[in-house]
Amino acid sequence: MADCLFCKIIAREIPASIVYEDDRIVAFNDINPQAPTHVLVLPRQHIASLGDLAEGDDAIVGEVVRRAAAIARERGIAAGGFRTVFNTNRDAGQTVFHIHLHLLGGRPMAWPPG
Ligand code: AMP
Ligand code: ZN
Repeated sequence: MADCLFCKIIAREIPASIVYEDDRIVAFNDINPQAPTHVLVLPRQHIASLGDLAEGDDAIVGEVVRRAAAIARERGIAAGGFRTVFNTNRDAGQTVFHIHLHLLGGRPMAWPPG
C-alpha cells in the first residue's frame, strides 16, 4: 500500500530496527519504546485493522501472535510476563493502519491500561 508507513518499512524504503523477518512476518523495535522490550510484530500483507480481517487471515494472525511469544522467550521475558496489544481505531489510539501486535515487556505492567 503506497501510503502506509509499515509497508514502507517492510519494503525497506524507510529504515527500522528489524528483529525478525520471514516471508510472511516482520518484527521491529518500536521507535518510541514504552518498555525495555517494545517490538511490533506484523504481517507483510497490508491489513488496515482488526476490523478488516477476513476468514482467510486466521493463519497469519496466529503466526503473528506465536512470533510475539517466541520473541518474548528469546528476550528472556516470557516467564516473568509480557503484554501483547492490538490497538484498533481511534479510541484505542491506533495511529498506523497496518495491523501490528505490540509486544511489551521487561518491566511490570499496570492494569487497567490507560
Ligand atoms: P499504534 O498507535 O498502535 O498504531 O502503534 C503505532 C506504533 O508505531 C507506535 O508505538 C509508534 O511509536 C510506532 N512507530 C511509528 N513510526 C515508527 C517507525 N518509523 N519505526 C518504528 N516504530 C514506529
Ligand atoms: Zn501497510
